[in-house]
Amino acid sequence: MNLYEASTERYDTMAYRRCGRSGLLLPAISLGLWHNFGGSSDFENARAMLRRSFDLGITHFDLANNYGPPAGSAEETFGRILKLDLGHYRDEIVVSTKAGYLMWPGPYGEWGSRKYLIASLNQSLKRMGLDYVDIFYSHRPDVHTPMEETMSALDFAVRSGKALYAGISNYGVEQTHEALRLLRELGTPCLIHQPKYSIFQRGPEEGLLDLLRSEGVGSIAFSPLAQGLLTDRYRNGIGKDSRAAQASFLKPAEVHERRLEVLALAEIAAARGQSLAQMAVAWVLREGGVTSAVTGASHVRQIEENVAALRNLEFSSEELQHIDSILGKAAAQP
Ligand code: NDP
Repeated sequence: MNLYEASTERYDTMAYRRCGRSGLLLPAISLGLWHNFGGSSDFENARAMLRRSFDLGITHFDLANNYGPPAGSAEETFGRILKLDLGHYRDEIVVSTKAGYLMWPGPYGEWGSRKYLIASLNQSLKRMGLDYVDIFYSHRPDVHTPMEETMSALDFAVRSGKALYAGISNYGVEQTHEALRLLRELGTPCLIHQPKYSIFQRGPEEGLLDLLRSEGVGSIAFSPLAQGLLTDRYRNGIGKDSRAAQASFLKPAEVHERRLEVLALAEIAAARGQSLAQMAVAWVLREGGVTSAVTGASHVRQIEENVAALRNLEFSSEELQHIDSILGKAAAQP
C-alpha cells in the first residue's frame, strides 16, 4: 500500500509559535476534531481535511475522549487516517486529547479522578493506535476531587510516557493558579491552557491570559469562530448542512441574535481585505492574544480560507476599538 506523500511545501507558510516557556512550537492554526470527524460523518471528507491541513503546515490536531458522535469515534477516525495516510509523519505531528466530560456510565466515567483520567487516556491511546499523545488535558475542573489528585494524574500520565505534556481546559483564573502551582511542584509544568476565546467570548481577558503569560504557560483558543457564527456561513440563513441546523451547541436563536453584529464585523473584515472568518482567526492570534487558534471545519475550503488569515494578523488600534464598539457590552461577557 502506498502511504500518503505530504506536500514538500508544508512548512513554507505556516507560522509556528512557542508554547509558553516550553520547547514546543505549535502552528498558529490547529485543527480540532470535535465536529465532522465522528462515526456518523463522511470518512473521506474527514480524511481530505486532515491531509490538506497537514499539507498546509497544521501539525497539531486536537481531540478529546468524547468527540464523535458517538463518543470516542473521532479518535477512531483519527487513528484510521494515521494508519492510512499520516502515521509515518507521527514525529511531525502533535496530538492532543482530553478527559473530563461524560464518557462512560457509572461513577468513574467523568470529572477529575485519577481512576477516570488514566483509564480514559488508555482508551484514547487504543482508539488512536498510538503509544503516546503529545498533550493530555484535564478537560474541565472538578470541584469534588482534590486538585492534587487531578494534577498528579496528569503528572503520572507524563511520567509513564503516555503523554509528553500536560494541559488544562476550562479552568477559571483561581483554579488555573492552583493547577499551575501543583503541576510545578510535581515537576511537570503545565504546558498549555485551552479556554474558549473569540471576538464574542472575552472571558479570558479577565485575568486568565495575563496569568498564563506571566507564568510562561501557552494558550490555545477553542471555537475562535464562535462555532461558525464569525464567518459568512449564515449570511443567507441557516443552511441545512450547517452546524446550527443540527442538534448541536450552536442554537439557531444565537445565529439570529448575532446577525447585526456579524454584518458589521464583516464590513471591518472586508476593509482589511479579509473574510470574517479570517479576521476572527487573526483577532485571537493578534499581538497580546493566544499561542494557537484551534479551529473546526466541515470542508477543506474552510481550512484553506482560515489558514490564509495568517497573511494579516496586524490590527490598528482603531480597528480593535471599532470591533469592541460593535459588541458594546457583550464584549465584556465571559
Ligand atoms: P470554530 O469556532 O472554528 O467553528 C468551526 C465551525 O465553523 C466549522 O465546523 C464550520 O461550521 C464553521 N467554519 C469554519 N471555518 C469556516 C469558514 N472559513 N467559512 C465558513 N464557516 C466556517 O471551532 P469549533 O467550535 O469547531 O471548535 C474547534 C475545536 O476546539 C474543536 O474541534 C475542539 O478541538 C476544540 N474545543 C474544545 C473545547 C473544550 O472544552 N476544551 C470545547 C469546544 C471545542 P459548519 O460545520 O457549519 O460548516
